[in-house]
Amino acid sequence: MTKVQNASYLSLPKLFYKTKGKSQFPSPKMIFWNEDLAQFLQLEEENQDKDLSAQYLCGNLVYENTESIALAYAGHQFGHFTMLGDGRAVLLGEVEAKDKISYDLQLKGSGRTAFSRNGDGRATLTAMLREYLISESMFYLKIPTTRSLAVVETGEFVTREMTQPGAVLTRVAKSHLRVGTFEYVYQFGNEEDLSALLAYATERHFPYLEKTDRYALQFLREVMNLQSSLIVDWMRVGFIHGVMNTDNMSISGETIDYGPCAFMNVYDPSTVFSSIDSQGRYAFGNQASIAHWNLACLANALLPLIHKEEKKSIELAQSTLDEFAKIFMDKYWSMMAKKIGFPKADEDVLQLAKSLLNIMQTYKLDYTNTFINLERSDFDQNKIDPNLKTWIEDWRLVLNQKNLDWNQSLALMEEMNPSFIPRNHLVEEALESARMGEGEKIMSLLQRQKFPYERKDILLLENEIPKGGDAGYVTFCGT
Ligand code: AMP
Ligand code: MG
Repeated sequence: MTKVQNASYLSLPKLFYKTKGKSQFPSPKMIFWNEDLAQFLQLEEENQDKDLSAQYLCGNLVYENTESIALAYAGHQFGHFTMLGDGRAVLLGEVEAKDKISYDLQLKGSGRTAFSRNGDGRATLTAMLREYLISESMFYLKIPTTRSLAVVETGEFVTREMTQPGAVLTRVAKSHLRVGTFEYVYQFGNEEDLSALLAYATERHFPYLEKTDRYALQFLREVMNLQSSLIVDWMRVGFIHGVMNTDNMSISGETIDYGPCAFMNVYDPSTVFSSIDSQGRYAFGNQASIAHWNLACLANALLPLIHKEEKKSIELAQSTLDEFAKIFMDKYWSMMAKKIGFPKADEDVLQLAKSLLNIMQTYKLDYTNTFINLERSDFDQNKIDPNLKTWIEDWRLVLNQKNLDWNQSLALMEEMNPSFIPRNHLVEEALESARMGEGEKIMSLLQRQKFPYERKDILLLENEIPKGGDAGYVTFCGT
């Protein structure tokens, strides 16, 4: 008997989804299975027969007593409202994990659905492995994220920039509710549908909220809170999502939809790697304002539920949204303070953090390595960037003035600063060899990224940036 249960999403009105029939892939093969995650989800037994498991996790078979559905959603893509929906994904059902929370199991790349428009519903092996790698890396970096349970090769070929094997990823999420789900229901549903969605989302993610008249506003505040923390976490490790359209912003506060995302090497807020983001809308340093913009889309979709009078509703939503900047900035500077060893961000610390960021940007210093270098009180003076030397003297002075215990500062820095991130060149190398049928590099990267805060043996080859750095590095939306 499978532990996969029918999706609770099916309790929502029919408008919210379309059923999806079985896929017909010729020869599915399980190539990556995440045993740690399987244990957490209590699904270890699901993969005892790998061939059978591959049949389920490519969509050829459907778990007993479940219905596979493609979810409807809309979204603002690069600022423009569009109808979207799961064009190549399907929700299989839910599993209750060891933490007693129910998680969605979703396939990505399993074939056409009612929302596929002109797409083929397929995904390439490298795109799915990329999501597997980076989502798992985010998990070990202690950043809220969807996770990856399995990658199944379908036995078919898929043509994008080049022709390569097709694959299906099994994604695990607290839910697949997006800002775009609310936008869809606001646009195409009635008030009852919208209320049903709000109640469902609240039950799933904020069950402690009291369902008073004003709970739509409270709900907005909760999502704002999760999203501001999430962006601060991204900025802590130099992560660029790359395509923060409203359909790619999760209500649960998890990082979702790993497409053209990447980690930044040299610190520069204007960093963009995505091939489709020529304007830099989703650049590293823009992520907080985009989150705010996306939350305004959520607020707009919630308006009918905030207050009976539209004018009042807008006023209330606006004043809630206006809190975002302060909430974000407080969290951001508090995180930055800890990255340089201070428990609190007062005026001196703020100045220090700002000038460090300026130095990194001006002298093109590596974001990850700079923080790691600071920790090493015994660092080799010759290896330290000369431009940093004066800053380090000032930093030490302030640390002393505040009478901070160095070990405490060190503990904060070790908690905040990863010594390892899956840098672009490492990810590309691993994916390229996987495309050639060689899985070893992916396996070793997956293993290495499980310990991103490890302090032994740091600054080895893996932290060396190739000559020329990321100049010209381009990521694709990865379909
Ligand atoms: P994404 O860029 O992954 O957030 O996807 C944006 C929209 O395009 C979503 O509605 C996807 O389901 C859809 N989409 C992406 N790739 C495909 C594909 N190969 N076939 C059908 N729909 C797709
Ligand atoms: Mg998406």
